[in-house]
Amino acid sequence: MPEQIFEYAPAPESRAVVSLRSCYEPYIDGEFAPAKSGEYLTTVNPADEEPLAEVAVSGEADVDRAVAAARRAFDTVWSAMPGAERGKYLFRIARILQERSRELAVLETLDNGKPVKETRDSDLPLAAAHFFYHAGWADKLPYAGLGPEPRPLGVAAQVIPWNFPLLMLAWKIAPALATGNTVVLKPAETTPLSAMLFAEICQEAELPRGVVNIVPGAGETGRALVGHPGADKVAFTGSTEVGREIARAVAGTGKRLTLELGGKGANIVYDDAALDQAVEGIVTGIFFNQGHVCCAGSRLLVQESIAEELLPRLKARIERLRLGDPLDKNTDIGAINSAAQLGRIRDLAGTGTEEGATAWSPACELPERGYWFPPTVFTGVSQAHRIAREEIFGPVLSVLTFRTPDEAVTKANNTPYGLSAGVWTEKGSRMLWTAERLRAGVVWSNTFNKLDPASPFGGYKESGYGREGGRHGLEAYLG
Ligand code: NAD
Ligand code: MG
Repeated sequence: MPEQIFEYAPAPESRAVVSLRSCYEPYIDGEFAPAKSGEYLTTVNPADEEPLAEVAVSGEADVDRAVAAARRAFDTVWSAMPGAERGKYLFRIARILQERSRELAVLETLDNGKPVKETRDSDLPLAAAHFFYHAGWADKLPYAGLGPEPRPLGVAAQVIPWNFPLLMLAWKIAPALATGNTVVLKPAETTPLSAMLFAEICQEAELPRGVVNIVPGAGETGRALVGHPGADKVAFTGSTEVGREIARAVAGTGKRLTLELGGKGANIVYDDAALDQAVEGIVTGIFFNQGHVCCAGSRLLVQESIAEELLPRLKARIERLRLGDPLDKNTDIGAINSAAQLGRIRDLAGTGTEEGATAWSPACELPERGYWFPPTVFTGVSQAHRIAREEIFGPVLSVLTFRTPDEAVTKANNTPYGLSAGVWTEKGSRMLWTAERLRAGVVWSNTFNKLDPASPFGGYKESGYGREGGRHGLEAYLG
């Protein structure tokens, strides 16, 4: 560890702003009613493995009730309501998210393990912005370029992952409601709590019953939901493997489908890039949210002539990242979300060393309890290595080099995925030349991991299909 001039005193956010119930039931037709399944799972805080609450595992009968409630709400209230009226509910939800943002940020940090700095400054503001943005669309749909009278599809079955629990909920629910659809959403099994609190927010906003239903549970609940004959539209974010299974289950049913799956984003740094800014962008690209980011810049492609200059600067920066208590406002790197995910990261990172790459991590102490993995950089990586091909979904960066722009593009596109990429250069022409050739849904230039509700997000190839956000995202919910 290099000498630090300042030591940081602990700055913990208060847990007292969150009051947890001991048990959460499915939210169906405007009420929390005991799960018919009678089954419960425990969600834990991954930073210390302490149990937070019991959460129902919704079974087929629960999913059935939720889909029926959503259908009723669609037929009797929501689809016929003027857009301007629907918009008011979305504005109301957005404002409540802002009002309760501190509580939600702490809750999200407790359940997920991500630093409160990120839940406070990214997850919550972005979730609220998503509702504000779509509230604005609700009465303007005839002007979205999708025909003079676009119609909602009906009941949307939505399944989301654990990496941005509330934000992914917002990405799913806000466009569905703005376009006049009703929703049954299943949060991830390790991070259901912010969705359960969102259900309370729907009550607080006096959203008509049945418009939003939340059915917590694991893979089986998700399977029952996406396979339910009463769903008109399926929206999934998660692994490519489960995405494939869902695509097979939905094929031939007439249901509309959008899939937002994994990625192996390339972050390309040209020799003329502003190096210190690039270093910040590389760090944000792979260490934001512990690398649990589908659009992470997990492959650094650096021009050979500057590699020797860039890598020491990158390492010096990584040595200053603070890993530890996610509730501490100074923490940069929090806990890995689950024991299972930690196992996957360890296994894949292990293959890096076995296959001949060189691993480097800063000297950093990992807390004794909880699930932790140090920020890791692999050099000497070849395109054939598993760590260059497979999504690790953790704080692990693979560094490759290139000599010419052609080689950079060829290497960046040499992946089964196609979700995101970054290009670092001071030259506009080079940036545009590169961006035009990258097969990625989002290309950032001289920045990384910037998200905005007005900007469509989605992938090519095994990263899925369909777009979320922007005018393009509305299309997925209109017929
Ligand atoms: P996953 O795909 O298994 O889980 C995502 C969601 O799908 C969860 O809500 C889960 O309960 C649900 N689910 C699981 N099986 C299902 C099924 N058969 N039908 C319907 N829903 C189902 O992801 P995971 O196991 O939590 O993570 C595994 C890997 O997936 C990660 O290592 C990462 O590479 C990738 N991942 C990507 C994203 C992303 O944002 N693109 C998010 C999470 C995970
Ligand atoms: Mg949890």
